[in-house]
Amino acid sequence: MDFELTREQKMIRKNIKEFMRKEIAPIAEELDRECHLPEGIWKTFGDLGLLGIGIPEEYDGSGMDKFTFTLVVEQIAKVCPGLALSYIAHSNLCAHNIEHNASEEIKKKYLPGLCSGDLIGCLGITEPDAGSDAVGIQTTADRDGKHFVLNGSKIFITNAPMADIALVYTKTDMKKKARGITAIIVEKGTPGFSVAPKMDKMGNRCSPTSELIFNDCRVPVKNVVGEIDGGINVLMTGLDTERVVVAGMALGIGEAALELGLKYSKSRHQFNQPISNFQMVKAKLANMYTEIEAARGLIYRAAQVADQSTRGGKGTEIHKLAAAAILFAGEAANRATDISLQLHGGYGYTMEYPINRFYRDAKLMEIGAGTSDIRRLVVADELIKKGTGY
Ligand SMILES: Cc1cc2nc3c(=O)[nH]c(=O)nc-3n(C[C@H](O)[C@H](O)[C@H](O)COP(=O)(O)OP(=O)(O)OC[C@H]3O[C@@H](n4cnc5c(N)ncnc54)[C@H](O)[C@@H]3O)c2cc1C
Repeated sequence: MDFELTREQKMIRKNIKEFMRKEIAPIAEELDRECHLPEGIWKTFGDLGLLGIGIPEEYDGSGMDKFTFTLVVEQIAKVCPGLALSYIAHSNLCAHNIEHNASEEIKKKYLPGLCSGDLIGCLGITEPDAGSDAVGIQTTADRDGKHFVLNGSKIFITNAPMADIALVYTKTDMKKKARGITAIIVEKGTPGFSVAPKMDKMGNRCSPTSELIFNDCRVPVKNVVGEIDGGINVLMTGLDTERVVVAGMALGIGEAALELGLKYSKSRHQFNQPISNFQMVKAKLANMYTEIEAARGLIYRAAQVADQSTRGGKGTEIHKLAAAAILFAGEAANRATDISLQLHGGYGYTMEYPINRFYRDAKLMEIGAGTSDIRRLVVADELIKKGTGY
């Protein structure tokens, strides 16, 4: 597998890195403290072509692939993980799923707005009583002529407070369990659809999270994404890609933790010398670097296999590989932020140094897109069913 980046990928990575360093890094702590995204960020990202990565040009996208998308996520997360989270929810969870599964009519209606930043998207699977057990969702969609009538609620939905459209998973046939799930787009302002106040979170605080509530909410049948009762296919293919790109977010967090720890340990003096002189500090730095590079290899390979899978090339290998990538990267990001904070000593425990923000943000990397436990189950079940493939 060749991780040499194309000229286009190198250029995009350089541009986003520069943008994040200049425009977002100086305000990242303020965004965390005041719990909001940067002013006008969706239009800015739209103008930079970032919202259209992975979307064909015929829908006003920028083309390109998931590997490129993952590289961009990594650079955003290295400075502001909360912004990366909202970017993923909008572009990957909402727009990419629509592009991959929806009718031509729906693609033409929503994708140009999602690519320009005129429309903001979110995706709702999780419910108050159905998290890891996603197939156990209880939000119903009952057919009434040319409409489905939705009742139920979704919780922890990234971008919910600001979203113009929500891609929502419902049960259209309770008896059929996994085979009775349907994905459908609900527009903001639809009667019977409301959004609860923003949730207060420990990390990724600039990314708004909330609950979607459906109370006899009538949605046209033509808003269905994929097949009626075929939502499980939309969900599963979407989840594999989501795991790869969220792993990219974990990688960015790990890189930030290492850079902050390295900088601090070279500048902090104890016993008349920089603490980076001490062997035990050196070991910590080396361990962080080694795990980050191991995560990078796994994630980049998973991203490339994800691109080949959507082109019909690599079968289901992506299922366990994506789960393995996010499992390792999520835990590595948490170890890296923990070690880096430790290197900062008491100063790391204050709100004065950015490592505290990355430490709080990293925790989500073991929870969202399936917890570490669920990721282990996915990898092991695939191995038991299909073998290693070596
Ligand atoms: C900030 C944030 C943003 C999010 N954004 C979105 C979003 O945009 N859209 C969306 O749909 N969801 C979103 N989520 C929800 C997220 O995907 C869920 O929180 C996650 O899937 C876990 O579900 P749960 O919280 O209900 O935990 P539970 O499923 O209740 O799990 C609780 C614990 O039990 C363990 N557990 C559960 N089942 C098993 C098992 N079979 N074996 C071993 N251990 C098990 C879990 O690993 C975990 O440790 C978000 C969550 C957060 C915190």
